[in-house]
Amino acid sequence: MVYKDYCIALLFPAGLRTRAAGDIPLSHSKVELVMMRGLIIFTVLFVAVLARETFEGHQVLRIVPKNEVQLSLLKNLEEMIEFELDIWKGVTGVSFPVDVRVPPHTLQFFKSYLNSHDLEYSTMIEDIQAIVDVEREQMESTARFAQPRNTDSFDYGNYHTLAEIYSFQDMLVAENPNFVSKIVIGQSYEGRPLNVLKFSTGGSNRPAIWVDTGIHSREWVTQASALWFAKKIVTDYGKDPALTAILNNMDIFLEIATNPDGYYFTHTSNRMWRKTRKPNPGSTCYGVDPNRNWNSGFGEPGASSNPCSETYRGTSPHSESEVKSIVDFVQSHRNIKAFISIHSYSQMLLYPYGYTTAPAKDQAELVQNPLSGGFTIFPQCCDVNCSVEFFLGSGTC
Ligand SMILES: [Zn+2]
Repeated sequence: MVYKDYCIALLFPAGLRTRAAGDIPLSHSKVELVMMRGLIIFTVLFVAVLARETFEGHQVLRIVPKNEVQLSLLKNLEEMIEFELDIWKGVTGVSFPVDVRVPPHTLQFFKSYLNSHDLEYSTMIEDIQAIVDVEREQMESTARFAQPRNTDSFDYGNYHTLAEIYSFQDMLVAENPNFVSKIVIGQSYEGRPLNVLKFSTGGSNRPAIWVDTGIHSREWVTQASALWFAKKIVTDYGKDPALTAILNNMDIFLEIATNPDGYYFTHTSNRMWRKTRKPNPGSTCYGVDPNRNWNSGFGEPGASSNPCSETYRGTSPHSESEVKSIVDFVQSHRNIKAFISIHSYSQMLLYPYGYTTAPAKDQAELVQNPLSGGFTIFPQCCDVNCSVEFFLGSGTC
């Protein structure tokens, strides 16, 4: 399958059978009971349908700035809340595209704004809901009936629910008790475990590599990729020279569902949910962008102070338990040598620090990183796009 982080899938209970009155002879009270039960089920489904966000008529436009003036206009888009935009690909430079999701009720208004400033755009996606429907059908049509009994029979070509990810982690640990272990580094706001897989061939407090996926919950391809490379680490150790050399000297920590509340919400209510799910005092809007919540350039450009923004930074650094748990873990470990956070939707390799234009001290080495092949390198990605994508010194993103 082709993964698209903007594709939508919502699982929905299939085939609720209505019992006909003639099916089974019932007493009056039993009939009432069945009707009441039916009413409750119907009400629950009705609420579920109402609670699910639809993206009918939402379009994704690609805008390419031709000069510095247009670039600065696009940089201001995030502050123009009247358009209700969801910026999928932010500003990086002249000639680099900017992709935005626009709801139907502001579409003409926004297009008029673009035309009035001679900003050229094309329509990348005509109707997001159509993609939502296709993705949902794809998930439902895949044989998801039998629960995999082991990680060999796990379906790596499909998206998975949070429960399935948790189950996968436990299976991988059970199958490889001397290699893989699970560490619970904390709890999400809604009380879900923050699980980290540790891959280790021995030693104590070895130097380590941290990898996390799904801190932005809607970026489903990242959690799906992590499931695949968790299995790949296990199967390739001892075969792949590079991986084997790393694991003979270092440990790897992998957090797959880094924002579990948000991920659960993308499956049940809103496929586009990116933030955490903690209520914001004094606001009707929920959640903080956990990737703007680090104590690194907190409050600098690129993060919003508006709780309704997709890039809301929170009230203070590490206010989100999902973030603080990682910080506490990394700081207590004291021997993390690389910190890699995986996102989706752009082909970019980003390295520290997004909130400043001062070069990182090991910039020359970072530019030569062999991982950079096929990616666009943004030395210091600034302003709207990703100011706080980098943190904790040695991280890339
Ligand atoms: Zn992201």
